[in-house]
Amino acid sequence: MSEMRRKLVVGNWKMHGSLTENEALLGALKAGLASAHGFQGAVCVPFPYLAQAQALLTGSRISWGAQDVSERAKGAYTGEVCGAMLKDFGCHYVIVGHSERRTLHGEDNALVARKMRAAQAQGLLPIVCVGETLAQRSSGATEAVVCEQLDAVIAPAGVQSLAQAVVAYEPVWAIGTGKTATPDEAQSVHAVIRARIAVIDANVAAGLQILYGGSVKGSNAMALFKMPDIDGALVGGAALDATEFLAICQAAGASH
Ligand code: PEP
Repeated sequence: MSEMRRKLVVGNWKMHGSLTENEALLGALKAGLASAHGFQGAVCVPFPYLAQAQALLTGSRISWGAQDVSERAKGAYTGEVCGAMLKDFGCHYVIVGHSERRTLHGEDNALVARKMRAAQAQGLLPIVCVGETLAQRSSGATEAVVCEQLDAVIAPAGVQSLAQAVVAYEPVWAIGTGKTATPDEAQSVHAVIRARIAVIDANVAAGLQILYGGSVKGSNAMALFKMPDIDGALVGGAALDATEFLAICQAAGASH
């Protein structure tokens, strides 16, 4: 089943970068990936750098996107950025429900579901993040937490909505900590996610790209990508280092 899914590597720059740093990083990625194949690559940059990403990446094999989107379409919502604005700058992807948004900005499952639909209404592909904390894992609640997060986005719009989305499994304890889930640990949660969806719609489940995120780097990417239900990576820290990000992309291209 995994043959029908291409590997996808997405960089999440978080609140990092500058015009000068981005130019160097994107230039190195474009040069390094010019003749690469067998995977999809993307970077999700801070809002102010979307125009720069669009200018530098148009015509390259790297897509770009944002890290958040408003649940609203337009209006008096100071500080918010809507999906139509992201489309204006050529975004393909938008991350929704990243654990940092859930924890630091109080985003709950219902809001994540509304953001997912707002993104899809504009033809953006939401990358919906799910994942358990260390305390939840230690208490044996990993599957329950991840399934609850998943059910919350399926319930309002139906499982078909996942046909136009990407899911990222990001155990919170592995994000930015240097601790990676082992390939087997990650695979077992990815398999649970796919099985949960397959019960409702086997085709949607078979086609869904499920990314792993949490301290992915060049040295551990290949072992993760060899797992049957791991379809790529959402990469934080290592996405800021051209050599590391290129190594992850190369592993994606070589892993099938
Ligand atoms: C992330 O922010 O989505 C992430 C996975 O970060 P890191 O790769 O730094 O753990």
